[in-house]
Amino acid sequence: MMVIKFKDIKFGPAGLGGADEAISNLETYHKLGLKACEIAFTYGVYIKNKNDAIKIKEKANELGIKLSIHAHYFINLNSEDVRKIEASKKRILDCCRVGEELGAYLVVFHPGFYGKMDKEKSYENIRDAILDIQKEIKKNKWKINIAPETTGKVNVFGSLEEIKRLVEDTGCSFTIDFAHILAREKIVDYDKIKKIFGKYDKWHCHFSGIEYGEKGEKNHKKTTKEEWKNLLLNLPRDKEIVIINESPDCVNDSVEGLKLN
Ligand SMILES: [Zn+2]
Repeated sequence: MMVIKFKDIKFGPAGLGGADEAISNLETYHKLGLKACEIAFTYGVYIKNKNDAIKIKEKANELGIKLSIHAHYFINLNSEDVRKIEASKKRILDCCRVGEELGAYLVVFHPGFYGKMDKEKSYENIRDAILDIQKEIKKNKWKINIAPETTGKVNVFGSLEEIKRLVEDTGCSFTIDFAHILAREKIVDYDKIKKIFGKYDKWHCHFSGIEYGEKGEKNHKKTTKEEWKNLLLNLPRDKEIVIINESPDCVNDSVEGLKLN
């Protein structure tokens, strides 16, 4: 069987480590052949010093490693409490500001919860918050984009269709988390995903093994060789793809994916 090569595919882990070890970690990733890395601001924007950010940016550029940011877990752009929506927007914007200093191309985030709101109203609230964030990005002349992610729990906003609608209505980027899609839908329908996102050239993806139940995601786990093979077989060849591995062993798992492609 003839294997068609990917036009552009980059593998990398979810995590850069602390500011003091970031440079040596980037060098390690580079030696391993990894060309992407997602910085986890999931518990806060921990790179506080602008000089650190600039050093990391320069090193990543020198080594050809594409950086992205994962924003805080505590984000809800659909809260009933307006102050919580404002605080969530601010968290995403803080990630954008530091992400810009780091030369990162995307800020990934989980948009929010349905709560007691119906799905349509939830959609509208999240869309409007994204439009507000984009206005600020534009005002600051930042180049970074924001990328809502497909989420892994049925009661959390972030189905494939909802993310697609946000992209179409706001022009934001997107993150396709294949493990989350499996946990949410109990199947990964690649044809459907290609149909939804086929018109976009840049695919930012998350991938790992996952444990899940009726309600969806439980936790990420080590990625098996079979899971990697299946993903790589089904991804489109004509896109610029970044795959961030989020397993507990994300560096080794990324290397495994890289070797299999
Ligand atoms: Zn995520």
